[in-house]
Amino acid sequence: MTGTQTILVVEDEQTVRALLRTVLEEGGFAVEEAEGSAAAMAYLARETPSLITLDLHLGADNGLDLAREIRRSHSVPIVMVTGQGDVIDRVVGLELGADDYISKPFHVREVLARIRAVLRRPPQAAPETGDPPKDDTCVAHHFDGVTVVPDRMEVIDRDGRDCGLTSGDFALLMVFLERPKRVLSRDQLMDLTGGVEWSPLDRTIDNQVARLRKKIERNPSDPKLIKTVRGVGYTFACDVDRKGDQDGVSRSA
Ligand code: CA
Repeated sequence: MTGTQTILVVEDEQTVRALLRTVLEEGGFAVEEAEGSAAAMAYLARETPSLITLDLHLGADNGLDLAREIRRSHSVPIVMVTGQGDVIDRVVGLELGADDYISKPFHVREVLARIRAVLRRPPQAAPETGDPPKDDTCVAHHFDGVTVVPDRMEVIDRDGRDCGLTSGDFALLMVFLERPKRVLSRDQLMDLTGGVEWSPLDRTIDNQVARLRKKIERNPSDPKLIKTVRGVGYTFACDVDRKGDQDGVSRSA
């Protein structure tokens, strides 16, 4: 039998803490509560929970500041709890090293599913080294102010809005993000996005690229991200930072 995993719930509202406690205990976790930053840091000085749920709105305290403070000395997984309008804060939180987020109002099953998914990820670096947390899974890609969360098929633009990519757009974008600065022929792009159901209007790679440009380029008529390589195909011309890469270093080709 494995030991019970403890979740530290950081939340200023007692009713929400009680709700999370109920959900998590029913899911088989032990629960500790902290109503603000001081209580959370005091707990972390004594104990290491398996995971922290961190509300961004902590009354007088700011959840992002607390996430930053925790990340200075702890690699414990953090799941942010955010409001509907907190899109930019979510992006900032992921960049600070949070592992995932849940939006209020949340569904009980989603809370458990997200927490379990984060706990299944490979263990992170020991906190005392001061190194960035290590994680084999790429949590997020960043390029030119755009954030991509592959697990969730989410693409957030510079204003914190969802770019509205279709699954075909997304597949094509991921092909580029995984091969920045490489020239890819139309045939290669077709092969690499194989299995995607193109709509009848988007059968060609050229149409699909044009559509993707409209969604992610600052100025689609003068594309700086996906550049045309005349007579050959396309290349993703922008550096791509990958949070969660080995050693936590950004990868740019
Ligand atoms: Ca709150």
